[in-house]
Amino acid sequence: IERTLSIIKPDATRRNLTGKIVAMFEEAGLRVVASKRIHLTPAQAGAFYAVHKERPFYGELVEQMSAEPVVVQVLEGEGAIAKNREVMGATNPANADEGTIRKSFALSMGENSVHGSDAPETAKEEIAFFFSGIELV
Ligand code: ATP
Ligand code: MG
Repeated sequence: IERTLSIIKPDATRRNLTGKIVAMFEEAGLRVVASKRIHLTPAQAGAFYAVHKERPFYGELVEQMSAEPVVVQVLEGEGAIAKNREVMGATNPANADEGTIRKSFALSMGENSVHGSDAPETAKEEIAFFFSGIELV
């Protein structure tokens, strides 16, 4: 059974949307198997998004991700990576399908409420970035 890393971003935690977002994951058949609320430093947010460091939006992304606490979670289910991305919707909320998290809640391309791993290899790395072995059962 597959696992993926999900982040409820500061724009969503700030608006007290954590429960609503988790409910959407659960309704789609994903199970929360690890969860914590943390406040990333700019260095930690920068390291997490290092793959984007040459992109023009990198500075803004790091600033937004470290502005306020996030909720990081491991979601489990059949095809969890694809299912999570389906429930999140398109990166740009203007292109997100009706009923998705980003369509419902995202403020902009940058403040788009959630992050989800995009492939098995990145899911493994991203889960290990936030959770240690004893936190994963
Ligand atoms: P995520 O990786 O957060 O799940 P994603 O895979 O849909 O989202 P990526 O292309 O990996 O999108 O971009 C990572 C994040 O960087 C996006 O979620 C968004 O917050 C931000 N971002 C991406 N493109 C832009 C952009 N053109 N302008 C501003 N922010 C952007
Ligand atoms: Mg991505």
